[in-house]
Amino acid sequence: MKKLIIAAAMCACACEGKIAAADAYNVYVDPAFGDKAGDVIAALTMWENAAAANGETLKLTPILTYKMCGNASNGPATGECSEHEFSIHPTTLAALAAVAGEKLLGRTYRDTRLDMADVFIGVDISTPAEFTTTVEHEVGHALALQHVNETAIMYPEWCSTTTAYCIGAHDITCLDVQQYASVRDRIGPSCN
Ligand SMILES: [Zn+2]
Repeated sequence: MKKLIIAAAMCACACEGKIAAADAYNVYVDPAFGDKAGDVIAALTMWENAAAANGETLKLTPILTYKMCGNASNGPATGECSEHEFSIHPTTLAALAAVAGEKLLGRTYRDTRLDMADVFIGVDISTPAEFTTTVEHEVGHALALQHVNETAIMYPEWCSTTTAYCIGAHDITCLDVQQYASVRDRIGPSCN
């Protein structure tokens, strides 16, 4: 079974003075994704649908425009985005490995002060399911979610088969929506 760590969320700043995470975001999808931009936007819709299915509100407005919300190497600081916006960019698995020294499929740099983030996704990820799962996971980080050790998109490893907490295909669960609500100081759905 192949196991790859998807990513760690980077808090690039002192985590004080932060503003509350929102329920609506502008999402700048890098046109360099080419044919895969549609898959990225579909993953945003999956998040909206999962939230709605569990009684939560989330609006992600995709804008097919290049913007770097902050400094790509150190996380957002003086970028091109406003509060409650994030960007998604293509990168390569080799570039991710060079930064992290491990097998990452994607990486997110989030600025808690401004509720903005830069997301990077490996465009040479081997399968469509893996690609979609990775986008959904990293978007979770952009939405202020952390890793969990349960059946959720925020479980930090991708697997080729569904075992234990490891979801092998894209699937945002009730537990993800519960965390989404929790970090926004709402109780959210009860999940069985
Ligand atoms: Zn992660």
